[in-house]
Amino acid sequence: MSNIIYPTTNLKVTETLTIERGDGAYVYDSEGNQYLEGLAGLWCTSLGYNNRELIDTTAEQMGKLSYSHMFGGKTHQVGIDLSEKLTAMVPVENAKVFFGNSGSDANDTHVKMLRYYFNAIGKPEKFKIIARERSYHGVTVASASLTGLPPNHTNFDLPFNALGVLRTDAPHYFHGALPGETEEQFVDRIVNNLEQLILKEGADTIAAFIAEPITGASGVIVPPKGYYQKVQAILNKYDILFWADEVITGFGRTGNDFGCTTMGIESPALMTLAKQLSSAYMPISASVIRGDIYEAMIEPSAKVGVFGHGYTYSGHPVAAAVALKTLEIYERDNIFGHAATLGEYMQKRLHEFEDHPLVGEVRGEGMIGAVEMVSDKRSGAGFEGGAVGTFAMQSCQKHGMITRAVAGNSLAFCPPLIVTEAQVDEMIEKLGKALDETLDFVT
Ligand code: PLP
Repeated sequence: MSNIIYPTTNLKVTETLTIERGDGAYVYDSEGNQYLEGLAGLWCTSLGYNNRELIDTTAEQMGKLSYSHMFGGKTHQVGIDLSEKLTAMVPVENAKVFFGNSGSDANDTHVKMLRYYFNAIGKPEKFKIIARERSYHGVTVASASLTGLPPNHTNFDLPFNALGVLRTDAPHYFHGALPGETEEQFVDRIVNNLEQLILKEGADTIAAFIAEPITGASGVIVPPKGYYQKVQAILNKYDILFWADEVITGFGRTGNDFGCTTMGIESPALMTLAKQLSSAYMPISASVIRGDIYEAMIEPSAKVGVFGHGYTYSGHPVAAAVALKTLEIYERDNIFGHAATLGEYMQKRLHEFEDHPLVGEVRGEGMIGAVEMVSDKRSGAGFEGGAVGTFAMQSCQKHGMITRAVAGNSLAFCPPLIVTEAQVDEMIEKLGKALDETLDFVT
């Protein structure tokens, strides 16, 4: 046993699998066993493993300039090039971007920039943030407070109350609907709950509403049609900013460039990006904000003498070079188009499991999906604890596929965007075996 404290791990279990190398959509363990990466690592290795261009870009940039910081306005061309390409891609008006290292720190940056902005425009009391139940936004103190999953709070004394995080409904019809309620009625009810929350707290105290357009870690929840349009109408009515956490859904994952496009979310004021920004070849994140928010921050920083926020690795030149090359490959090789086509195929094949006796719901969009296992197919009642999900995940692994059990007993699928139709078929075949074995396990 090593001395590593493993992240997001039952500390009694610790080491489970030693991964040694990767190639394309596959990884290999220390005994040479091959696994199809059904979750693209942690929803991030979009271009797969051992991509020669990304490796060469890394080596070249390392040789040229292995490090330079951005404090005090010091800059480098590759960082500028990345910022230009990225801000031209995102659906954020006159976008400006702050670079970080992870999705969590990018969300913390946004929390701080929101405070900075509302202080700047003379509304210091407008700092609360509405986040949804079961959302995942990261694990640093602020981002974990936005996260709505109990394991990320319990024993950590989170959420951190001073942040003013307000909680609203998860838009999950399958579990959230009242008996007999239609999808439309469900949406109207939870959007009404949102409005009541705003009225109770006071719109003047609320800065933003954060949402993953389609959730990942909380079980791949795709909100019903019309949900975001109604949410945005309420937010606009009360002058509350929409903040899209696209750490998973960004860059082709949902069948379009961004999850906002797929879900019809218009002009978010803030957007968080990481993971597929560099295909996970280097850690890098981006906190994107609307131009006018940035403009308002300029004078106050001049008064203090500094915008006092920055990481040693903000705009790291090697990470920036790799991210820039990743975006170029997306464009040149029409990766989003490929992901849209294959995504449709993957959804069709995943939905074949709807009739499986163990499956309560199949959900997803593009190349992200989940299969939820339930104890009672008719009522949708789930299993206690997460043992069934863990068993199914291990069964997939035994058959040569890596996935993750999320939200208890859902298996998540989010393969590299470069997978072939044959690899989607392979995924489905292995999942079929795992579901049958899991059915034997529970009966
Ligand atoms: N936001 C979302 C939607 C995520 O899925 C994640 C990670 O899975 C994060 C934020 C946090 O990113 P990181 O793990 O890079 O800190």
